[in-house]
Amino acid sequence: MNRFEPNLRIPGPTALPPSVREAGGRQMINHRGPEFAAMLGRILARMKPYFGTTSDVAILSCAGSGGLEAAVVNTLSPGDKVLGVSIGSFGDRIARIAQVYGANLTKLSIDWGRAADPDALREHLVEHPGYKAVLLTHNETSTAVMNPIAELAAVIHDVQPDALIIVDSVSGLGAVPFEMDAWGIDVVVTGSQKAWMAAPGLAMVAASERAWAAMETATMPRFYLDLRKHRESHALGQTPWTPAIAVVYQVDAGLELMEAEGAAAIFARHETCAAATRAGLEALGFELFADPAHYSRTVTAARVPAGFDWKAINAAVKGEGVVLAGGQGPLTGQIFRLGHLGSVTLGEILDAIGVLEQVSIRFERRVEPGAGIAAAQSAALESMSIRPSAGRPATVATGA
Ligand SMILES: *Cc1c(COP(=O)(O)O)cnc(C)c1O
Repeated sequence: MNRFEPNLRIPGPTALPPSVREAGGRQMINHRGPEFAAMLGRILARMKPYFGTTSDVAILSCAGSGGLEAAVVNTLSPGDKVLGVSIGSFGDRIARIAQVYGANLTKLSIDWGRAADPDALREHLVEHPGYKAVLLTHNETSTAVMNPIAELAAVIHDVQPDALIIVDSVSGLGAVPFEMDAWGIDVVVTGSQKAWMAAPGLAMVAASERAWAAMETATMPRFYLDLRKHRESHALGQTPWTPAIAVVYQVDAGLELMEAEGAAAIFARHETCAAATRAGLEALGFELFADPAHYSRTVTAARVPAGFDWKAINAAVKGEGVVLAGGQGPLTGQIFRLGHLGSVTLGEILDAIGVLEQVSIRFERRVEPGAGIAAAQSAALESMSIRPSAGRPATVATGA
């Protein structure tokens, strides 16, 4: 983060730590050789705890959307009744994939900015029996809302226990706790360019024993994304096709850093950065978009203030070295999003809030200089359970 390297505050791709960046430049190796096998084994072993599963995980060379497609085509057949619970554009995407491959799709669309309500889901499932699968988004990046996945899954198990539960956690996994086995989730998808601090190019898909069994009878067409081929190949320390080796290097390097930091510290850091972001934006007079009960811990969305041109604000913010994301689809020009996942630090959040504060004042919004930073600091300290007043006076003389 300096004049020549912006503070990339979009919800993926996320900035690469130096060791990850260097890993991507390494010489190629034989992807059918022992070095690759060791690396693949290491990655799978280190990643599985973040899924919260002991089942097999497949690493595919494709964007996150390829992982979503793999989740659908491997477990379902044309004509299957599928419920797509959508709370935003990524929920729409996986539902659309199911539809394209011939599923008999019912979409339960929730107002953007809100999470899916377990009671409403229960009601729907009671009235509409016979779903083969339910598609859920864990962290809806387009609206900065995090669904209560454990509760939603519990409702599905209760009302339609035979339905497979397929979850897009592309922008959640690795940054927030997830317990696939304990919650009874059947398929979980994530992507290298989000919490894993690597370049785009790999999708990781975990499947429960029930999902692996479903693959034997599912008839949607699949070849490149066939998870069974990946599982067979992974058992030999390989991938069925030539993988994006440079990105595999990077994910390996990213997991090395994650191992050193520890999952608990990683989750806490994301929570602190999210809390600081929300408090900072609110103190600057921005109205947060998401339902406060279901804020995402990896991305925050705020409404573009009435009468202000997002493009002009964004250009000024970018000029100060902070890259934000705009709204997607119907939210274009309505909201902006600030990503805080992966390698994010509190310092980068304070920098982004400081720049937004500066730009807000320049755009003649009534903001007290320092207000955003102060609020972000306080929220961060609170999230870390540190009381600012508990310390020694800052002016105490050395040796006194
Ligand atoms: C980023 C993301 C994806 C995948 O996006 P790709 O551009 O295909 O890698 C899917 N779902 C969610 C929730 C995401 O944030």
